[in-house]
Amino acid sequence: MSVIKRLSEDAVNRIAAGEVVERPASVVRELTENSLDAGARQIDITIEEGGLQAIVIDDDGCGMDKDDLALCVERHATSKLSIDGGRDDILNIRTLGFRGEALPSIGSVARLVIISCTSREETAYSITVDNGTAHSARPAAGGRGTHVEVRDIFRNLPARLKFMKSTRAEAGAIGDVVRRLAMAHNEVGFRLMSGGRAIVDCPPDDSSEERLRRIMGAEFMDNALPVDATREGIRFSGYAGLPTYNRANAQMQFLFVNGRPVRDRLLAGAVRGAYADVLARNRHPALVMFLTLPPHEVDVNVHPTKAEVRFRVPAAVRGLVVSALHHTLVSAGHKAATSVSQAAVGALRQGGGVPYSGHRGGRARGASPNLMGLGEQASVGVPGGEQQPNFGMSSAPAMPGLERADIYSGRVEGDGGNEGVSTQELPDGMPLGVARAQVHETYIVAQTHDGIVIVDQHAAHERLVHERFKHSLAVSGVERQTLLTPEVVELDAAVVEQLMQRAGELADLGLVIERFGEDAIVVRETPALLGPCDAAALVRDLADDVAELGEALSLKEQLEEISGTMACHGSVRAGRRLSADEMNALLREMEATPLSGQCNHGRPTYVEMKLGDIERLFGRR
Ligand code: ADP
Ligand code: MG
Repeated sequence: MSVIKRLSEDAVNRIAAGEVVERPASVVRELTENSLDAGARQIDITIEEGGLQAIVIDDDGCGMDKDDLALCVERHATSKLSIDGGRDDILNIRTLGFRGEALPSIGSVARLVIISCTSREETAYSITVDNGTAHSARPAAGGRGTHVEVRDIFRNLPARLKFMKSTRAEAGAIGDVVRRLAMAHNEVGFRLMSGGRAIVDCPPDDSSEERLRRIMGAEFMDNALPVDATREGIRFSGYAGLPTYNRANAQMQFLFVNGRPVRDRLLAGAVRGAYADVLARNRHPALVMFLTLPPHEVDVNVHPTKAEVRFRVPAAVRGLVVSALHHTLVSAGHKAATSVSQAAVGALRQGGGVPYSGHRGGRARGASPNLMGLGEQASVGVPGGEQQPNFGMSSAPAMPGLERADIYSGRVEGDGGNEGVSTQELPDGMPLGVARAQVHETYIVAQTHDGIVIVDQHAAHERLVHERFKHSLAVSGVERQTLLTPEVVELDAAVVEQLMQRAGELADLGLVIERFGEDAIVVRETPALLGPCDAAALVRDLADDVAELGEALSLKEQLEEISGTMACHGSVRAGRRLSADEMNALLREMEATPLSGQCNHGRPTYVEMKLGDIERLFGRR
C-alpha cells in the first residue's frame, strides 16, 4: 500500500516552496534528513569531488515499495503530511521533511538513482531520474533500506556550476551538515567518506555527551558547562562554552530546534545577550544548544531550506535561553577556560628556548597546547556551592582610590599578614591563593596550595567593579558624586540626541548629563564607585555603546553593557602599585564574585599553573 500522497493544491500553496538545491551540501542535508525520517539507525554517505561528482547515501530505514518509489520523485508528494496539508498539520510537524520537494528538485538538476526495499517486500526496486526525466521503477538488487545516488549535479547548468566553490569548500560544507545532524541524533550511526577518508565517523547508540565529545572535541567539552532548563514545556539543554574559551566568529555555535539544525536570529541574539556581559562584542562563545518544544510552538515552514524557524511565543524562548545561559555562567564562579592555562604553558615552552626532552617518555613538547595532556589539571576548582557575591567587602571601595603606594616589587611577607602562611595551611575556599608579589606593577603572583596564579589586576578589578555596579544597580541604585567643575564634552549633534534619550537610564547608573547646546553635553555627576575618572572619555565611550547597541538589545542588557564600559573606566589601571592587603582583598573578592574569571571582554582575569605543569616545564617530571 502506498504511503506517499500528492499534496492538494491548497497545501502546496501553503508551504514555503523555493530553491532546495543550492549546492551539494543541501543535497546531503535533504537526503540525510530523509534517512532520519525513515527511522534509520545507520547512515553511510560517500562523496566524490566535494559531492559535485557523486553523493551516495545508504540507510537502513523503512524503505519504499515500488509505488512509493514512483511517487517519491514527483513534486509535492510526501508521506509526512496529510493530503490536504491542513493548517493544523503544517503546524504540527514532527519530521525533518514535509514538503515533498527534495527528491524531484534533486532529480531535476542531476542524475538521481534510488534503490529501495521495505521490510515487507522481497525485492528491491530502483528508479532513475536524469536531469528531469523520470524512468519507471524496475526490480533491482538491494537489501532493506534505501540507497540514493546523485551524480553530476548541475552538469546541465554550467551557470550554476560556476558558482560552486572549490571541491574542498564543498566537502567542508557537507562535513558541517553531517556533523550538525549527527550531534542532534546521537542514537544514529553516521559515517561520511570523502576521497577514501572518513570525515565523520560516529557509531550508533552514543549518549548525547559521547556524541558531542566526538564531534566538538574533548577541548570544547572540558571548557563547557552543562545547561539544562525547562520552562513552560520548553526545554533548553546543551553545553555552553566558558567565556574565556571564546572565538572570533560564531562558527562554533550549534543551535538545534527539535533536532533540526537552525541558524536562527532570535536564538543567536539571545546567546549574544546572555554573554554580552562577559564577552567583547567582536568575540563569540562556543556552544551547543538543543531547544525542544511541542511542534505547534514552532513554525518550521518559514524558509525553503528549513534553516530558519519562527516561535509562537518568541519572548518565552528568548527569556529561557538568556536566563538559563546566564545562570550557568554565574554558577561557574570565577572559573576560566583550561585552554588559557594550557596556552600559557605552551607559550612558555615555546619561548623558553631548549625544551627539556631527554626525559621519561620524551613526549613531544612545545606543540599544540592541548596535546600536552594538561587537560583537567590546568583548570581551577570552582569553590563549592552557589557563591553569593560579596559586595560588602570591607576593603573593596579602597580599590579605586588606592592612595597607599606600598611599593611592592618583591616578596609580600611582612607586609600584609601573610607572614608565615605556608601553602599547606591555606584555608579552604581560597583557590586563588595568597599574594606573594606584584610584578611590573600589573600582575599579582599568588601561591595556591598546588601551584601559582597570575592575576591581571586591571582585568580582575574591572570585572569586580562591574559586578558591584550591577549589584548596587539592582539593590539601591548607583551612588553618584558631584563634579566640582562640570565637564563639557563636545559631540556630534546626532550623538548628543542619542545620549540624551538615554539620560534617564544613565542617571540610574550614576552618570548625570545635560544638554549643552546643539552639539555638546555637560557632565554634572559621575558614579561614586568609579572614583575620580576622566568623564569626557567615559561619555565618548558610552556614546559609542549607545550608537552601536541601538535597539538591538533589551534595556537591561544595554545597562549591563554600559556599566561594563563604566567599570573599565573606574578600574585599577595596570601600573598601579598594590599593597599585599589590597592584592589579597582583590583575590578574595574574585573568589566571591560570579563571572570573575574573565573581564567584560572575555579575556581571562587570571591564569593558573599547577606545580605539575611547572615541574614539567623544567623537566622535573
Ligand atoms: P519530504 O521529505 O519533504 O516528504 P522528499 O522529496 O525528500 O520530501 O521525499 C519524498 C518522500 O519519499 C518522503 O516523504 C518519503 O516518504 C520518501 N523517502 C525519501 N527518502 C526516503 C528514505 N531514505 N527512506 C524511505 N523513504 C524515503
Ligand atoms: Mg525530504
